[in-house]
Amino acid sequence: MNAPLPPMVGLDAIRAAEARIVGRVARTPMARSPALSGAFPVFLKLETRQPTGSFKLRGATNAVLALGGQGPGFVTASTGNHGRALAHAARAEGGRAVICMSSLVPSNKVEAVRALGAEIHIVGRSQDEAQIEVDRLVREEGLVEVPPFDHAAVIAGQGTLGLEILADLPEVAQVLVPLSGGGLAAGVAAAVKAMRPRARLVGVSMARGAAMQASLAAGRPVPVEEVATLADSLGGGIGLANRHTFAMCRALLDDVLLLTEEEIAAGIRHAFTAENEVVEGAGAVGIAALLSGKAKAEGPTVLVVSGRNIDEGLHRRILRGDMA
Ligand SMILES: *Cc1c(COP(=O)(O)O)cnc(C)c1O
Repeated sequence: MNAPLPPMVGLDAIRAAEARIVGRVARTPMARSPALSGAFPVFLKLETRQPTGSFKLRGATNAVLALGGQGPGFVTASTGNHGRALAHAARAEGGRAVICMSSLVPSNKVEAVRALGAEIHIVGRSQDEAQIEVDRLVREEGLVEVPPFDHAAVIAGQGTLGLEILADLPEVAQVLVPLSGGGLAAGVAAAVKAMRPRARLVGVSMARGAAMQASLAAGRPVPVEEVATLADSLGGGIGLANRHTFAMCRALLDDVLLLTEEEIAAGIRHAFTAENEVVEGAGAVGIAALLSGKAKAEGPTVLVVSGRNIDEGLHRRILRGDMA
């Protein structure tokens, strides 16, 4: 019996996404970090500079355009940054967005999505419970779902970030990518490995509730308990019926690293004091992995700094070293 081809998103789809979203998302800078560079240069791919403060605008914009702009509206369950991105992308095309999120999502993220003109439904205490409301809206109101990571158009949109890395640093040897549901890691890895197969692609998650890492270890998607973490944008499961990102991460990632909360806090502090960047926990994990010694730059290395949306008060407490 022939095994079916894995549900991979390839270079052609990522290039098509790039052509579709150009001018609607930022082409973000790759800033060399003197503080983190040693024998080899280390670059920060600053997705903090996207209009909504994270790379998620790439995938959401590609999905909205690929799925036909307006229609009856778009819906998603989101821990914040994807909801913000979909709200922005739908409004840019004159469409409607409904965002469902769990009560664990920090209030700054809820308000930011509301301010972008989306309708908010707060349901349950996990991504899975918020998803039940999404399913209802699709069924009963005919809205079109744009999931946060497990969708070919979303993965292809995130992959455009990988094309920019290759264009700016053709000799890239290693990319550290924040890893949650795996849309970012799958897209970036697909782009980079297609053109530079020997580059190392490393996913980085928090030790508390790392769903993709647990699933890769188990050989199939498994549920994890959702717990509070400084890297709140990395929380949530990968979906037990995962179609794309599990197979892609299994095929394309060379390693997955897990970080403690202290290490993530050190990454946030370094980003601010040494790189002059406000970075949320999820966005700081690449920096944290290098600082902790769990990752090493054994060739030109890129850290995907995936987002900046952190509660101001939390950011201040972390800078003070006050971690309670
Ligand atoms: C969503 C998100 C991630 C993780 O992306 P996945 O595609 O779910 O793996 C990382 N960083 C930030 C800031 C995010 O918003």
